[in-house]
Amino acid sequence: MKKIVTVMLSLVLCCGLFAGCGDEREDEGIKSATYDPSKEQIVVATNAAFAPFEYTVGDRFAGIDMEIAKGFADSLGQELVILDMEFDSVVTSVGKNGVDIAMAGLTVTEKRKESVNFTDTYYNASQMVIVKADDTTFDDCTTADEIVAKLNVSGVKIGVQAGTTGESFVRGSADLGFDGLLNAQCVAHSNAGLAVTDMKNGNVNYVVVDEAPAKNLVGKIDGIKVIDIKLTDEEYAFGVDKAQPDLLESLNAYLKGIKEDGTFDEILSKHFQG
Ligand code: GLN
Repeated sequence: MKKIVTVMLSLVLCCGLFAGCGDEREDEGIKSATYDPSKEQIVVATNAAFAPFEYTVGDRFAGIDMEIAKGFADSLGQELVILDMEFDSVVTSVGKNGVDIAMAGLTVTEKRKESVNFTDTYYNASQMVIVKADDTTFDDCTTADEIVAKLNVSGVKIGVQAGTTGESFVRGSADLGFDGLLNAQCVAHSNAGLAVTDMKNGNVNYVVVDEAPAKNLVGKIDGIKVIDIKLTDEEYAFGVDKAQPDLLESLNAYLKGIKEDGTFDEILSKHFQG
């Protein structure tokens, strides 16, 4: 008995010690400070339903963007305030009510450049399709065009996250050069996890979302798979308040620093392991 207890205890300890145990990779996560306009704070807008870039662990925040946010605020000696909101409010919230930066796996687009100044890019991304595990529709596809041909069919319902480039891909966007899948019906959800639930419940046929969160969802939710073919070519950057050019410059300098000293790669590999 004692031996069993010791083994179990060691397992629990191992789990706690090694990052990468289950989903709660940072164990602790990052606690948001309370917004206080009288203080020097970095206020970040996000939508924390986009693992591995941002997600919640209890009342704390975790993920690639959140770690960069925390490191940046620490480098300036300022508190970090994280505001979790619907994705389609993230960009437009910047510059209002004290919001300094949008950090949300945010694809650079011309339209968004009207609202924010983008930092240097830090990640290449692409839309992908999630289907039910037993769905063979795309099994013989080898190119994005072949996937699109099978998506863009009357009667097909495609779940997306509202306000994202995934939604633009399905609805069409002159800004992004997407023709749209106009024969299909686009169904917007407040996050990709809910879109997947809707697919499992039979209300939409497929879900289109960014590759990394798509693969993260497949790792967490049974009965779904990702079609591993890139549909778009996108780049993530942070969106900074246009009224704060100095902040843009310091965030770019911080990003450059963590790319050069290996911190950035460490954060990425931690969140992409296994
Ligand atoms: N990269 C996509 C976009 O910018 C999705 C981002 C997200 O859902 N957090 O629209």
